[in-house]
Amino acid sequence: MIESWKVDSNKLMKKMNVTEKGLSDEQVLQIREKVGENLLEEAKKKSVLQVFLSQFCDLLVIILIIAAVISAFSENPESTIVIIAVLIMNSILGTVQHIKAEKSLESLKQLSSPSAKIMRNGIKIQIPSKEVVPGDILVLEAGDLIVADGRIINNYSLQVNESSLTGESTNVEKTDKALEGDIPLADRINMVYSGSLVVYGRAEVLVTETGMNTEIGKIAGLMNKAKERKTPLQKSLDQFSGRLAIGIMIISAVVFVLCLIRNVSLIDSLMFAVALAVAAIPEALGSIVTIVQAIGTGRMASENAIIKDLKAVESLGCVSVICSDKTGTLTQNKMTVEKVYVDGDIISPNQLDLKNQLHRDLVYNAILSNDSSIADGKGIGDPTEYALLEMFRNIKVENFRIGNGGCKKFEDSTVENNDFNEKMLNEEDVRRAIPRLQEIPFDSDRKLMSVKCKLHDKETVLTKGALDVLLNRCIKIRKNNQVREISQSDIEEILKVNEKFSNQGLRVLSFAYKEADEDLTIENEKDFIFLGLIAMIDPPREESVEAVQKAKEAGIKTVMITGDHKITAIAIAKKIGIFNDGDLAVTGLELDEMSNEELYEKINRISVYARVSPENKIRIVEAWQKHGNVVSMTGDGVNDAPALKKADIGVAMGITGTEVSKDASSMILADDNFATIIKAVANGRNVYRNIKNAIMFLLSGNMAGILCVLYASIVGLSMPFTAIHLLFINLLTDSLPAIAIGMEPSDDSLLKEKPRNPKEGILTKYFIIKIMLQGALIGIATMSAYYIGLKTNTALATTMAFATLTIARLFHGFNCRGKESIRKLKLKTNPYQIMAFVAGIAFISIVLFVPQLHGLFEIADFTAVNILEILGLAFVPTLIIQIVKEI
Ligand code: ATP
Repeated sequence: MIESWKVDSNKLMKKMNVTEKGLSDEQVLQIREKVGENLLEEAKKKSVLQVFLSQFCDLLVIILIIAAVISAFSENPESTIVIIAVLIMNSILGTVQHIKAEKSLESLKQLSSPSAKIMRNGIKIQIPSKEVVPGDILVLEAGDLIVADGRIINNYSLQVNESSLTGESTNVEKTDKALEGDIPLADRINMVYSGSLVVYGRAEVLVTETGMNTEIGKIAGLMNKAKERKTPLQKSLDQFSGRLAIGIMIISAVVFVLCLIRNVSLIDSLMFAVALAVAAIPEALGSIVTIVQAIGTGRMASENAIIKDLKAVESLGCVSVICSDKTGTLTQNKMTVEKVYVDGDIISPNQLDLKNQLHRDLVYNAILSNDSSIADGKGIGDPTEYALLEMFRNIKVENFRIGNGGCKKFEDSTVENNDFNEKMLNEEDVRRAIPRLQEIPFDSDRKLMSVKCKLHDKETVLTKGALDVLLNRCIKIRKNNQVREISQSDIEEILKVNEKFSNQGLRVLSFAYKEADEDLTIENEKDFIFLGLIAMIDPPREESVEAVQKAKEAGIKTVMITGDHKITAIAIAKKIGIFNDGDLAVTGLELDEMSNEELYEKINRISVYARVSPENKIRIVEAWQKHGNVVSMTGDGVNDAPALKKADIGVAMGITGTEVSKDASSMILADDNFATIIKAVANGRNVYRNIKNAIMFLLSGNMAGILCVLYASIVGLSMPFTAIHLLFINLLTDSLPAIAIGMEPSDDSLLKEKPRNPKEGILTKYFIIKIMLQGALIGIATMSAYYIGLKTNTALATTMAFATLTIARLFHGFNCRGKESIRKLKLKTNPYQIMAFVAGIAFISIVLFVPQLHGLFEIADFTAVNILEILGLAFVPTLIIQIVKEI
């Protein structure tokens, strides 16, 4: 193995047969053939058998096993076989569920898997990280997740956080020089390692190792850290199941003793206890919750909201504040230069004249202190930056004459030799002719970007950035063909123009330069000569207005947080409906001056934060959370990660977001669109509501069974059902309607309600009372059927009770679809419910009408009248519940 850090990068490239242009497609194929894809092998998953067996490690299942053993000694030993068959079936279902859930998580993970920018065939392209091969040239920028190990070949102030590998949380400054000697991994500062994050600067890196050959791939066990995948809801249901199991055991014991006191035989008493336990255990509950959640996340992914953390699905329903970035999320991020302020005039970009030296220098600045590019008409990089390139490309070329005091090199190398009038202006030619010597990349804290180039044969620093930052650093101005001290009236005029642009919602960039031989450092970003302003429009997304309105109706406050100028931000916020009369707008500086108490007091009224730094975002989240809100915060930059983590739901941008921000978030917007968050909230509320309704359905049905068995044991009746009956209902005829309830589509009413209180669990007192009441209704109908049957004999009583309970629960599925009555919900909106009902009726019909099954299910002979009685009684509870809902 080559110790890449010791070798000169050029030699290494030669050795690996790569040029600066990157690999060719052919080379890539050959290499991939040899080393495979750039993937880390996942931790060994539980085997199918292990998953299957783990299904039996559940208290409720253990109770069922005990029930099976007891049944073996009863008159009806077939029950044992049935219970065991049911347990096995249940475990198979559980296993299938588990594997499916893993798969759907896997595909969600695929959707949010990182990408990498690389050079191939001389072109910079973006590819999924698994396609990177050794020999590729990785292009790293702040915010990137490094996806392979590599040797830095060109370094521009790169700083990397390698904590995932070394545990060291401070950032490492990198170099492209060769290092000597055997140095430990953490000190190989000319190398980057897979899994690290670029926090600052830029670099080109020759990939040396991929996949399992990377350092992180070699650390066995690292990927084995299985993440906690249970959501709060699942945890609280687990807790509930635990309590339920204990409760069941106690009640079963009581019933057993009651029977013994009434001189029921030991085995029959035991069977009563068993029936009760089986009636009470909601066998399908766990898998129903998983299924409904899986359906929900699938639906969200198809609507561009990729859930990374299942917890988010539940929290989404509680969101009461959404803090959203402006650029690209609320706006289209389609920047177009609208106005230019240069030489004291406001002109439109098509009036730019390249023969005017001042204009030309402004344009050079715009394209040289700029990292974006345009390939096949599509911008790559920051939209703010490629708007400047588009402006450049649209400048009329015939205005340009050679040798007008501009950049000689530029003119020599491109213009004279080319038929320039025929050609579109191309920034790449300019960039090649005027190479960059040094640079300080843009960051949203500093709000500036500077490069040093050789212009007019002199080393010149070109800077662009936010006016409020840059103007303070200008000591001179270039105007009327001369450079002079900047006066107060110049400054006032510039600020006035800036305000004018901002009031129109334009995003303003300012430009300045200086000639300087000194090293380009952040400290030296001063003493500039002011050149001009370029203002661009970024129209609000059409959907934003409606989405903000919907959020408002849903009791959710939308807050705009932007790095842009305050006036621009207010202008856009007004257009979208975020900023209303009486609202406040605050800048990052003003926020810094506010105490936490003051912020806490004012926060409800502040709807726009401008010129904020990423640190400000954390304070904003905290202040809202202190008021008891569940906060969603969007972010895209590398510095946004802490705020994204701090928020209850961190939302990263799928298109423009850095890998770092995606890593820190619990949801990714595949389309960067604010409106998608609102859709996700509606979906989140829907998932929660559906789960709640499915639980209501399952538990109220079980409650009916419990009440019947309890009643029979107290009053001294024979058992109304056998264990097999109850298992049949719980596992077969109840599961389908429960899943159908879980598939209830989301509707507008969901966004009319206030956000859910996050502290309130599902099993509230009100919820439990409802379960009891509905269970009692079904129980009464069931016992009525029992008494009708009892007039003939106990066998018919049991048959009628069983059939009535089954069908009543099938009808009850319709009640649990939502708060409203079926008339308002409409039958056709959830066809699955009808299918589930039909299937359930088919199952019970098979049991009732196929004589071969009568022995096993203890079905007695019945008449057509009995059937009508069963149907009638089974329908009564639903009729009553529907009438109550109507009222
Ligand atoms: P949001 O947080 O809503 O996405 P934003 O994109 O406007 O807002 P930043 O990207 O942090 O926030 O930009 C803040 C300011 O920095 C802008 O208003 C602009 O003046 C300046 N700016 C933005 N991009 C660049 C850039 N590439 N080079 C120099 N200055 C820039």
